[in-house]
Amino acid sequence: MSITHHPTEATVLDHAAGRMHAATGAVVAAHLQACPQCRALARMGEAIGGSLLEALTPEAMAPDALAVAMALLDRPAPVPPAPPPPALLDGVELPRVVQRLAQRRGGLGRWRWLAPGIQRISLLPEPGARRDGTVLYLLKIAPGTAIPEHGHHGHEMVCVLAGSFTDALGQFRPGDLAETGPEVEHTPVADAGTSCICLSATDAPLRFRSRAARLMQSVMGY
Ligand SMILES: [Zn+2]
Repeated sequence: MSITHHPTEATVLDHAAGRMHAATGAVVAAHLQACPQCRALARMGEAIGGSLLEALTPEAMAPDALAVAMALLDRPAPVPPAPPPPALLDGVELPRVVQRLAQRRGGLGRWRWLAPGIQRISLLPEPGARRDGTVLYLLKIAPGTAIPEHGHHGHEMVCVLAGSFTDALGQFRPGDLAETGPEVEHTPVADAGTSCICLSATDAPLRFRSRAARLMQSVMGY
């Protein structure tokens, strides 16, 4: 997989600090699974975040902490194991984060018509969950179909899983991540050949930018 479009370093560090919304975080997780370069940055962020945390919490462990942890490990799981997650969709291997979300929902469900040439499977919010304007879905775009300007009021993140699309920023192929803000107007068009399947999230107008991630950025000199 040759990846040419990556999330910003700030986004990778936000993800490493656990400060992203589940929907946009899932798209970054899908990219990280495919991208060793960003995984290395995320690991560095996690390590620095961990050492900051240690510096902030100097309390010693309780003397029986290890025994308690071991006892918890010995306990049987309180719920029966869920059925295995669906690994493939239309012959395309799904990122682990999508498999886990589908497992929680009891399956992926089926493609639903969204617009001519465009189908969608909703992943977040989960059924019954509070709606906060942030959504995560799988999109299948027929070859040659343009995604009309889709009312971004916030940020959008898209990771390609199969096929490809092209917009003003270039061509996006499997593993590539497109990160666009409200100032960007773009009209992605699925390339000829096979349908383009993507994992796509849009967040609420105010995107959370963590202080911890900014601190890590300054420590790391980005
Ligand atoms: Zn990357």
